[in-house]
Order: sequence, then structure tokens, then C-alpha cells
Amino acid sequence: MINFLEKNSNIINSVNQKLKLVFPDKAPLVYVETYGCQQNEADSEKLLGMACSVGYTPTDDKQLADLILVNTCAVREHAELKALSNTGQLKHIKEKNPRLLIGVCGCMVQQEHRTGDIKHRYPYVDFVFGTNKIFDFLSILLKALSSDKRLFCVESFEDNPGEFQENVPVVRAHSNKAWVSIMYGCNNFCSYCVVPYVRGRERSRCPNAILSEIRELLNSGYRDITLLGQNVNSYGKDLEPQLSFVELLKMIEEIPVDFVLRFMTSNPKDATHELFDFISQSRKLEHHFHLPLQSGSDRILALMNRKYNREAFFELCDYARRVIPDITFTTDIIVGFPGETEEDFCDTLSALERIRFDSVFSFIYSKRVGTRAAEMDEQIDEETKKDRMGRLLALQQSISASRNSELNGKVFEVMIEGDSKNDPNVWAGRCHDGKLIHFSKANTPKFSPGDVATVRVTDAQAYTIYGEYIKD
Ligand code: SAH
Ligand code: SF4
Repeated sequence: MINFLEKNSNIINSVNQKLKLVFPDKAPLVYVETYGCQQNEADSEKLLGMACSVGYTPTDDKQLADLILVNTCAVREHAELKALSNTGQLKHIKEKNPRLLIGVCGCMVQQEHRTGDIKHRYPYVDFVFGTNKIFDFLSILLKALSSDKRLFCVESFEDNPGEFQENVPVVRAHSNKAWVSIMYGCNNFCSYCVVPYVRGRERSRCPNAILSEIRELLNSGYRDITLLGQNVNSYGKDLEPQLSFVELLKMIEEIPVDFVLRFMTSNPKDATHELFDFISQSRKLEHHFHLPLQSGSDRILALMNRKYNREAFFELCDYARRVIPDITFTTDIIVGFPGETEEDFCDTLSALERIRFDSVFSFIYSKRVGTRAAEMDEQIDEETKKDRMGRLLALQQSISASRNSELNGKVFEVMIEGDSKNDPNVWAGRCHDGKLIHFSKANTPKFSPGDVATVRVTDAQAYTIYGEYIKD
């Protein structure tokens, strides 16, 4: 196991000295912009932690920053275009602050054609580094601070599998809930997905490192912990000796502190009855499962290389509902995969009706360079994709509304997450089944994130659930 602080102590000193020379007049400020999934959010927290360990102070205002890191996503084209367009706007900040360094990192730049875009079209970007270089960030930063030359530190995973380091400094975005990565990469090569190419093969962290990170978080007051991996069910297969995901969960369950444990994501092909049995007995795991179906058509699932069929998926959900009656399910669906016929799409709609997910994250298929689906004939036209997306959303809205309406009048213990995103006079708190309930702050104590409140649901809509505070 490589210890970050041991490996980087000289570099930390050198960057620190360099910053004092470049910024004799002020403490330099750092801003990290994050696109994409929770894994990227977790990586950004580490980048911020590393930057702070050498003397930067975080800022929420990128106009004031002396170091801007753009942590990109490559899963869909939309996320790439957004990151590129926002990177374009940084030019104006650089014109005002010549000492500003701009770095672009994450999944998007792990692709050669996107690194090329940045090289040629964004000359004010100072350095670029791929996902397997995240732990080398400080040495890249030192070079960038020491020279005017632009740096492109991108290597394929074949050339550099990206060994990870432990005890990396972290500045977390929240005070009560924390991400804990348990593994990196993916071996599944679903035909539409770029993740295995930009994140490399599965590498599991050793259980002791995970347990000690969780214990440290609990000691600092965190009570809501989410384990992260592209397919958590294959955790530990690469460890020596091997350890299963359920065995890891059992070790975490034994920690003698009350807290909420979540995980994502599970590929249905590897979700087991044993896992659901364990959730049913656990005092910590939330009763919510994110199980991405992607399509309800067996023909499309095979083309996607998902390695399960709709019957197997239904059987899994039925079993889970038998052993955990109050479990909630959410899923991901891709609309308009190459060759998807009207009949295939109707199979997806019928699967949504059959399972009645609590909510669905639906995506229009986006062609990703280098993936097998990008080479498939019969790419679906944009109009058909949009039409299908509209129909799927309408159906799911009615299912979500009906599922949520079952909550009306029921009383829940919720863990406060903080203010509602849309209204500072309203609290948002999460139930044991993962659903967020909003309730007015009038007549409530001044809660902090992590506090528990009793709430009765009064108005459960498709996308938002409202409730009222019940005094103890
Ligand atoms: N490892 C996770 C998924 C990570 S990507 C899993 O297997 O479930 C998150 C979601 O993005 C996927 O579930 C899929 O629905 C969607 N997605 C991935 N690639 C996509 C593409 N090329 N076009 C549209 N959606 C995509
Ligand atoms: Fe992508 Fe499939 Fe791996 Fe998920 S399991 S990251 S969808 S290849």
C-alpha cells in the first residue's frame, strides 16, 4: 500500500516553498469544478485536499481563484460539451489574473481526441492529467508552477494501470455525509459505455484502509456514508486473499456506532440474494437499491453486453421485495440504443410498469468514441430518441407519483441533510429508504446535518415529497 504523505512529503514542501515565492502577497485560492458522478465528486474532494495540503485555500468564487481544476466526465457527450464550454469561459479570468493556473483532469481528458481539443483550442489551459494520474497531482502542479510550458500528462491504462495511494488529504463537501471509494475502474465493457476505457480495470482498496477511513469519518461526526464503485458487487475479486462485497459490508456493520450506510452502483448481473438477505438484517444499510436496468428488451440487453435478461432482473427485484418489504428501487435507462425498435422500447416501458421503480434516471443514448455500440449500424435518429424519452418520462412520472402517494399520512424518521435546494425556509431530510422529504422550518429546532427528525408525509408528488414536523 503506497502512503500518499510518505511518498509526497518532499513534493509537498517544494510546492509550498514555490507558492510562497509566487504569492508573497496573499494566500492563493483554489476552485474545483466537478462534472459527472459521485466518483468524480470524491476525486475532487481529494484534489482539493491535496491543494490545501500545500497552502491553497478553497474558494467558491472561481473569479477569485489562483488555481482552477476542471474535473470532467465522459459518460455522455452533453457532459463533455458543458465542461469544454465552461473551460472556454475561464479565458477571461486568466486575462485578469496572469498568475492563475488552469488544470483539466478526469475522464474526458483520458481520451486522446479530447486532449487534442484542449491542446489546440484552449491554449490558456496550463496542464491536463488523466484519471490514472490523480495521485500525481502535486508533482504535476509543481512542474506547472515552475515553468511556462503546458503539460499534458495523459497515459493509457495499458501503459499505466494507475496504482492508488492511501491517506490522501481530503476536503469534504459535506459535514455529515461522506463518499468512500472502495474500488476504481470497471471490467464489464457494456457496449455503450466509455468508463472501462477512461477508468481502467477494477482495482479494489484493501478492507483495512476502507475500515480505517470509515472509523476516522465516524470519529469526526459523519453519520451518512456512501461506498462507491462502478460495480460494487465485484469488490474484492482482485484482492489477495479475495473478499466479497457482502463480507466487506459485514466488517463495516460490526463497527459499534449508529450510522447510515449506502452504496452504489450494482450491476444486476452480480447482485445476489445473499446481498439482499444481508440488507434485510443490517441495522445500517438503507432500504434503497439503485439497480440500473438500462433496457427492458432482452435483445437490446444482449447487444449492450449486460449479461442478464429481463426475467432475471424481475426475479431479483421480487426476491428483494420479499425479504425487504419496504425497499425502494431506482434505476438507469438508456433510450435510443442503436437498433432499438419500437417493440424493444415498449419492452422497456412494460418493464417500468412491472417493477414500478420509485424513480428513474433516463438518458438519451450518446455515441462514445471507441465503444462497440458506436460502430453499430442503425444509430437511432434524434427525433425518435426524443419522442421515446418523452413517453418514458410521462409513464415514469405517473408511476413515481403513485409510488410516492403510498407515503401520504405515514410517519418517518429522517436524517437532516440541510436546507432544501429551492427554499432556505425548508429542511430536507432523508428516510431509511433513501427518499428525501421536505418540511417547513417553522416550529422546528435549529437542526444540523445528521440530526434526526420525525416527519409526517402530507403531500407526496412524483418528484418532491412534502411533510410536516412532529414534535417528540
Ligand atoms: N457503473 C454504473 C454506471 C455508470 S455510468 C452501472 O453499471 O450501473 C451511469 C449511467 O450512465 C449508466 O447506468 C447508463 O445508464 C448511463 N450511460 C452510460 N453510458 C451512456 C451512453 N453512452 N449514453 C447514454 N447513457 C449512458
Ligand atoms: Fe459502464 Fe457497464 Fe462498467 Fe457500469 S458496469 S461503468 S455501465 S461498463
